[in-house]
Amino acid sequence: MTLDERFAKDGGAVGAETEAFFVRALKGTGEERAALSALFDAALRTPTGRGMLEGAVGAGYSVAFEEGLDANSQSGACDSALKAIVLNPKCSFGAQLSTLVHEACHALQAERGPKYPSLFCVADQMKYHRAIEADACAHECAFICEAKAFCPEVREDALKRGMPMLETYERVAEETGDFRAAMNAAFKSWYDYPPYQKAYDRWHKEDVRTIAEHGLKKDYNGYFMTQISSEKVAALCLYREKPYVEPEFLETPRAFSVPDADKEEILGITRRYALLVGRLSCDRSVERMFSREDPTGENKRVAEHKAREVAFVKSSKETAAPPAVPVQDGRDLKKNIDFWKKIRGKITRFGGR
Ligand SMILES: [Zn+2]
Repeated sequence: MTLDERFAKDGGAVGAETEAFFVRALKGTGEERAALSALFDAALRTPTGRGMLEGAVGAGYSVAFEEGLDANSQSGACDSALKAIVLNPKCSFGAQLSTLVHEACHALQAERGPKYPSLFCVADQMKYHRAIEADACAHECAFICEAKAFCPEVREDALKRGMPMLETYERVAEETGDFRAAMNAAFKSWYDYPPYQKAYDRWHKEDVRTIAEHGLKKDYNGYFMTQISSEKVAALCLYREKPYVEPEFLETPRAFSVPDADKEEILGITRRYALLVGRLSCDRSVERMFSREDPTGENKRVAEHKAREVAFVKSSKETAAPPAVPVQDGRDLKKNIDFWKKIRGKITRFGGR
């Protein structure tokens, strides 16, 4: 039975058996477990929430509140090594609810994804991390849309926090009636949102630095070595068990660009790492990425064109046409003939004709 069929059958109601299945994942004090249970009850009323939670809990993930998240202004986190999802207890119910689904999506990605993404070259790490974040956000959008009828605050909270991907999802779903197309559009619009871009650019750079430092501390020279194809990354992003993002999108300037300054800084980090761990070559994959400031290369082309024009004008001046030959009157002509007569003998002597 498919997820949709099951959902249509039981309407998302949590039966005794199902409840026991989910209850084992709830951690913390009695009060905390009751609060988590209320979140689960609401999430399980939607097909997307149910799909994500069934997958995460089935894979052995537990869910708990974690005070420490508030210090980083984080609403939640997912730790695949500990198989734990944690939520910020200070967030509103609506924010906790959609975050629970978002983090559960990360749990599923981790289950089917690579074990050690930090072994990937920098460009592929960025491609991978961005894609799984866009995927978790797209699922969060789908969930919010499904939950807003019985829990309007989940949508209001998302818009208050700033989530334009949700508006993209809703618009495309309404225009086409095709939820897969809405997921695809929401996924792509994640890459266009400047606050996310900025935050993740900073995070990626610091992550590369942390990985390099860890490698140096442990004298491990295998970081930033392997690759993952866009096909494999896209295959990790599933909507109802099927991919919904074209692998080619992950290599477009919209998805695969980095600020010029970060490119330089990252190259500095990978160069230093390679040098100090004694690697013959360093990871230069970030050079393959597009420039965030000039993603299409148009500015570079215009600048190069201008430079060529300037060089052409300059060289034209230097090799400018010789001074105009003065118009010769008859007297000048006679002078010239006399001159040639005088030197003719000499020219002949030097092999002239
Ligand atoms: Zn996330």
